Amino acid sequence: MSRIIKTVSLDKESDEIASKMGNFSKWVRNELKKHAYTISFTHTTPEMLEKQGICNPSHSPRCAICYPYGKPYASDIKHFNQGLITKERLQDLAKIRYEGIIEKPKPIIIEDERLDPPMRPVKERKYIRRALKYIWSFI
Ligand SMILES: [Zn+2]
Repeated sequence: MSRIIKTVSLDKESDEIASKMGNFSKWVRNELKKHAYTISFTHTTPEMLEKQGICNPSHSPRCAICYPYGKPYASDIKHFNQGLITKERLQDLAKIRYEGIIEKPKPIIIEDERLDPPMRPVKERKYIRRALKYIWSFI
């Protein structure tokens, strides 16, 4: 097997991990082969692509053309399927999350009348309950 030399860019932490591994190149080759099964370099859902301009974000293998940075988070897919975010926003969020700018999915505040109004804070109910209890104590 011929060998092709590639250069990778590591940060300090990943460099320390790599330096402790016996055969880093072999590990990279194996992981790349495993990864290749999870992505497709052709559109995976052409019907949805034609309709919505983007492949199905939940499809496996993932379309690496529509989602080059990784599979969007389930919460983002849900918002996209509900029509609350655009395909561009879905792709942006996948990129942002992949780059580690946002570590965990955070609730996206969307003003939409289809969504339930926010619940009243619990504190208010506590005060009302206490006030009623206080009033009842005099009766
Ligand atoms: Zn696609």
